[in-house]
Amino acid sequence: MSGMVRAAGRAALDLLLPPVCLTCDRPVDAAGQFCADCFARTGFITEPCCRACGVPFAHAAAGGAERLCVICRAVPPAWRRARGALRYDAQAARLVLALKYADRPDLAAPLAVLMARAGAVLLREADLIVPVPLHRRRLFARRYNQSALLAQALGRRSGVAVVPDLLCRVRGTRPLGNLGRAARAEALRGAIAVRPGRAALAAGRHVLLIDDVLTSGATAATCTEVLLAAGAASVDVLVAARVADPRGG
Ligand SMILES: [Zn+2]
Ligand SMILES: [Zn+2]
Repeated sequence: MSGMVRAAGRAALDLLLPPVCLTCDRPVDAAGQFCADCFARTGFITEPCCRACGVPFAHAAAGGAERLCVICRAVPPAWRRARGALRYDAQAARLVLALKYADRPDLAAPLAVLMARAGAVLLREADLIVPVPLHRRRLFARRYNQSALLAQALGRRSGVAVVPDLLCRVRGTRPLGNLGRAARAEALRGAIAVRPGRAALAAGRHVLLIDDVLTSGATAATCTEVLLAAGAASVDVLVAARVADPRGG
């Protein structure tokens, strides 16, 4: 059965069946909610966290007076601030991977609710929401860009303008999963650009960049550099989930 038919079937079923938890099959009061057990199991990122990259701190004193993690202290990121709604663990992976690979575009709206909460300040100061682009080939295989779905859901919630195609992949990149930080940056060099003729949209604007997961930050850093080169006043990054250990990935 094609994904499209499956998605349509799910939408039709949603009208008939009571809403279930985002990550299990237990009934909940309204669509887009966790049941009590799954809610308790979900790693929401709250303060204290690194003010530059949003990595959660174990305790308030961890970031020192600057409130920066060790990595951001050593190498300040290109973006101004990054925030994630969830720690990337098994529970967050269930949501993010379902959105990405399992024909669950309906998960974008509830994830955007969590992102809007975690990134309230970023969203308030943004002029423009821009998703991390997906290469045409992957877009064709998956039919949608999960980051663009999150961006559009955030735009609907906040009223901030969304430009889904401001950035584009100039060429494909091999999966970055196994590469270290420097190798990821090298693999991405020249792979992402502002779409020809679109630079004026970014010029002088405070851009909020949206992605599903922040791992090493290499992709977000490349997008940030490209946006700043196009004249963006600032770039913040908001993701659904971020890898919590700055040394991992
Ligand atoms: Zn549940
Ligand atoms: Zn940091």
